[in-house]
Amino acid sequence: MNPYSAIAQRWGGGEVRRFVEELGTWHDEMAMHQRLVARLGREACSDSCPHVTGRQLWKQARELVGARADELTFLRTSAAPGLPLARE
Ligand SMILES: [Zn+2]
Repeated sequence: MNPYSAIAQRWGGGEVRRFVEELGTWHDEMAMHQRLVARLGREACSDSCPHVTGRQLWKQARELVGARADELTFLRTSAAPGLPLARE
């Protein structure tokens, strides 16, 4: 089972469920994007790449579920503020 669905069930609420669906889509995009970044480096990033979306989603997650957002480890590690976009 998709780890996000499990989380959505545990956390409950229509708003959370919609958010978690969005997160699942982002996760796939981010996974692909990371492979691209690994190959091309920083050039793969743009103003609208999944890193940017990820930071927005992370902020949204914190607003929606507070500290429980920490359970979203992939989102946290790839989108938490303060992390460099890509290593050189
Ligand atoms: Zn990026």
